[in-house]
Amino acid sequence: MENGPSSWNELQERVTQLTQECQREIEQAANGAALQEVKVRWLGRKGVVTQLLRGLGDLPATERPRAGQVLNQLRQQLEASFAQRESSIIAQEKAERLERERLDLTLPGRRAPLGHLHPLTQALGEIKAFFIGMGYQVVEGPEVETDYYNFQALNVPKDHPARDMQATFYLAPDLVLRTQTSPVQVRTMERQKPPIRIIAPGKVYRNDADITHSPMFHQVEGLVVDEGIRFSDLKGTLIAFAKALFGQDRRVRFRPSYFPFTEPSAEMDISCTVCGGKGCRVCKGEGWLEILGSGMVHPQVLEMAGYDPERLTGWAFGMGVERVAMLRYGIEDIRLLFENDRRFLAEF
Ligand SMILES: [Zn+2]
Repeated sequence: MENGPSSWNELQERVTQLTQECQREIEQAANGAALQEVKVRWLGRKGVVTQLLRGLGDLPATERPRAGQVLNQLRQQLEASFAQRESSIIAQEKAERLERERLDLTLPGRRAPLGHLHPLTQALGEIKAFFIGMGYQVVEGPEVETDYYNFQALNVPKDHPARDMQATFYLAPDLVLRTQTSPVQVRTMERQKPPIRIIAPGKVYRNDADITHSPMFHQVEGLVVDEGIRFSDLKGTLIAFAKALFGQDRRVRFRPSYFPFTEPSAEMDISCTVCGGKGCRVCKGEGWLEILGSGMVHPQVLEMAGYDPERLTGWAFGMGVERVAMLRYGIEDIRLLFENDRRFLAEF
């Protein structure tokens, strides 16, 4: 202990002073890491207390035992202080962590968002539900169709001017993306014997795109064939359908029209779903909205399918599902139905 105390009193004084100094540092250590640093400085291999103990050898032999006892007491006292502070820091850090990570069990739970059917699927579902309820079968057919089924068997021979009514996607000279669901009528009549009562929903394709036309859209075709089927059957069924979908007080009218595969043909209008018939922007001031095309099956179509038009008659209709959904839900731009913007879809 070269620079150590030269007398017993000096040693006592030094120990008291060091004890206070060390206690202060222990108290000031704010966390486990800081406390560890203080501990190394005081009790480590090169620490203050260790140096003092090493210096014992420099004392006169008579003083060594007492001095050794005092320094050992100092070491034990400091070790106890460190241990106490260490456990209080651990307890404090644990309390802080618990506070930080505390779960508030009174908070309401977070529900997973629940989806729903697309408005087109909803509209198609309602159309199907009506006709299934009336005893119709749901039938499907191919989207890639031959020229024969899409046109010729429906009384539209090659070079017939009616082909211009539908801008057609040709995949090959005799192969098209079907422009209508009507080919399913022909396929069904070829396969089944009357009575026939079907609807045929599905995708159709036309080279046409603006805010009310999409190159791909959905149609529902309907066909009834049996003995004694009359135009009044067509009217009765379609009026009941319009009222089921658009409300019992909806007014309905039939306008003469032309389709190559029906004769006579009629388009059906409903009173405007926005203004109720007074005239507005949506119905272009007319008070009426076109909803579907229909007519008595052309005898030529029955005959090509192998039916006897003298004995059997039928009626058919075709309607756009997008148009029904747009009128039903007040959607003005058809593209919204295909963009899958969830903010838009969530409104239905
Ligand atoms: Zn209107």
